[in-house]
This record gives sequence, C-alpha cells and structure tokens, in this order.
Amino acid sequence: MDCIFCKIVNKEIPADFLFESDKLVAFADIKPKAPIHILIVTKEHIVSIKELQDASLTAEMVMAAKKLAEEKKMEGYKLAFNVGRAGGQEVDHLHLHLMGGFN
Ligand code: AMP
Ligand code: ZN
Repeated sequence: MDCIFCKIVNKEIPADFLFESDKLVAFADIKPKAPIHILIVTKEHIVSIKELQDASLTAEMVMAAKKLAEEKKMEGYKLAFNVGRAGGQEVDHLHLHLMGGFN
C-alpha cells in the first residue's frame, strides 16, 4: 500500500519517533505549522475518525499528545484531527496534530 505514514510506521522511511506504544507512534511534522508540531499516528492503517466505532484509540492519542506536551514543556497547545478532504485531511492515515511552543 502506498501510504506515507505506513511507511514511516514500518521504518521504510526514516523518522525519529518521539513516542511509541503498542498502538501509536509520534514524529515531527515535516512542514510544521507551529514552533513545535508533532503527529501522533496509529500503527494500524485506519483512514480517519470516520472508520472508528468508539473513542478508545482517540483517547490514547490524546493522552500521548498530553505526555509529549508535558515533555516538551508546552505551556498550551492545540490538538487537531482533520477528517476527510473537506476537513483538510491530506494523509489518509489516522493522526492527531499536536501544535505548541507558542509560549
Ligand atoms: P493532514 O492534512 O491532517 O492529513 O496532515 C498531514 C500532515 O502530514 C501535514 O501537516 C504534513 O506536513 C505532514 N506530513 C506529510 N508527509 C510527512 C512526512 N513524510 N513526515 C512527516 N510529516 C509529514
Ligand atoms: Zn497508512
């Protein structure tokens, strides 16, 4: 499958993982839209929030973002899921944007 995030998860494309769990990895966004911009990405190829039946995975993603924000000493931050093309989603593999470092 030609999915850039699957390739990163499978280490076919090198990336520094800032966080890793059994279900998730996190790495820096290649085109940061904030001083610190990290993507929390599922290991499983799930297209978007639209595919989910419950909040368990997204809850884990939010808690991973919170942990990273604490590690990076972010005073405040934005969390965003873009869902579908009309929602600004460009990469069709579930991810949460963590944007901070404004302080
Ligand atoms: P979205 O618009 O929500 O699908 O966000 C996709 C994000 O992935 C964008 O902010 C891109 O800058 C980022 N991105 C695309 N390719 C890579 C890559 N190879 N490594 C890191 N981030 C990437
Ligand atoms: Zn994928």
